[in-house]
Amino acid sequence: MWVTALGPYVGIAALAYWTYTLPSGWKLLTVFALSYLAVGFGVTIGYHRMLAHKSFETYPWVEAIFYVLGCMAMQGPPIRWTATHRRHHERSDQDGDPHSPHLAGNGVKGVILGLWHAHTGWLLSPDKERTDRSVKDLIRNPMIRFVDKYYWLWLVLSVVVPFGLGLAIGHTLSFGLICVFWAVIVRISLMHHATWSVNSICHFFGYQSFRSDDHSRNNPVVAIISLGEGWHNNHHAFPTSARHGLRWWEPDVSWFVIWTLKTVGLAWDVRLPSASAMQQKAAGGSTGGAGSPAV
Ligand SMILES: [Zn+2]
Ligand SMILES: [Zn+2]
Repeated sequence: MWVTALGPYVGIAALAYWTYTLPSGWKLLTVFALSYLAVGFGVTIGYHRMLAHKSFETYPWVEAIFYVLGCMAMQGPPIRWTATHRRHHERSDQDGDPHSPHLAGNGVKGVILGLWHAHTGWLLSPDKERTDRSVKDLIRNPMIRFVDKYYWLWLVLSVVVPFGLGLAIGHTLSFGLICVFWAVIVRISLMHHATWSVNSICHFFGYQSFRSDDHSRNNPVVAIISLGEGWHNNHHAFPTSARHGLRWWEPDVSWFVIWTLKTVGLAWDVRLPSASAMQQKAAGGSTGGAGSPAV
């Protein structure tokens, strides 16, 4: 599993080194890094912590920027993404969870099939569930409906913007196309892989800090590539928390962005678990009930 999970990163590192040796190659890599961060925060902050879990409040124009960036990740329109994710929390690792790695039987075969299903396979089977039941709050919001309806437009922009940047930087068509290769194709591949790793690896490998009624785990490697989402046991224990890396040694760059927004007055009502709530749910603790996965 680790070979599968980390293999693409080794390949991309080699490709990045080759690109670096090209004239203005570092500029290409800078555009790639910025697009990975911007679009990644669109998913981790916009889709996940704002839309799915309402973990803080902000101005509608700030919301709209994050949602449009999230669309550019090509993980589906925001309302459907949120419906699937809320269902994951409602039924985590139980029947009805759209992407649990624990529902494919026992033994080595069950583990392999389960991890495959959680990582990618679930996307290949049609989803029979109605999507509007758990997302009525989003459907009521005209701005969210607008972003959702024009999902295709944000995807077109996600290609046009890096192509334009490439043309402006390199002054040639081929430089524009290489820019699209890095800032669209490589970025989407790596980001999909990071998001899917949260579904698969973070319900299988890692440590549990809190009781959460499921198999969610904190995984430092996935936390780094997924911009903080890999602290997944913390997240299942406290789903509405804007901060997923809850200990000082658990880096969470998405939380750092939210903290910065709060510091400059662009975010408020930021939800965090209290010290006593964390103590009650601590794995191995003797007080308090097991955490119920809630949205
Ligand atoms: Zn999960
Ligand atoms: Zn979540």
